[in-house]
Amino acid sequence: MTKKKIGIYAGSFDPLTHGHIDIIRRASKIFDELIVLIAINTSKKTWFTAEERVLLTQQAVDQISNVRVDTLRNGLIANYYHRVGASALVRGIRNSTDFEYEYGIASANKKQCANLDTVVLFASDQYRYLSSSLIKEIAYFDGDITDMVPENVNQAMQIRKKELALQQSK
Ligand code: ADP
Repeated sequence: MTKKKIGIYAGSFDPLTHGHIDIIRRASKIFDELIVLIAINTSKKTWFTAEERVLLTQQAVDQISNVRVDTLRNGLIANYYHRVGASALVRGIRNSTDFEYEYGIASANKKQCANLDTVVLFASDQYRYLSSSLIKEIAYFDGDITDMVPENVNQAMQIRKKELALQQSK
């Protein structure tokens, strides 16, 4: 029996965008199973908690049967990769800045785990301008993000935006 090919698409997903979903769809066709791994990065201030990001992602990718969502708590991705017996990490690249950044991360990960490989997918043309930080900025200042994120994320962002504005006015 051939071994099941598992891919891991890790990121902050704060929030999940149509660009991420595009990568998830495409990667799910390459691997038998794709794990979307939500990184809990204590040094990054996020709009959504890890639990919220997991829930929003699960709802948004519900229709893709070979995708599951997990969190990376207290540990290196290389250890997680080893533990689940993954075949490759998946990352998306939008531009040359992403390229340099991803190349560095891929090399560092390979140093941690020699059999770890990173598969890079180029962003689709219609999504290459999308970034989670840009979307947060637009949403915060009441701009329209409906074409940029799935509807459940849009709704969660409208609520969060009001909470953040309230906190800052105190
Ligand atoms: P991180 O904090 O690890 O960069 P992100 O959630 O911002 O996490 O992104 C996760 C991955 O998805 C990264 O490889 C990033 O380059 C990629 N990515 C982000 N936005 C897009 C997009 N619009 N199209 C394709 N790939 C993207």
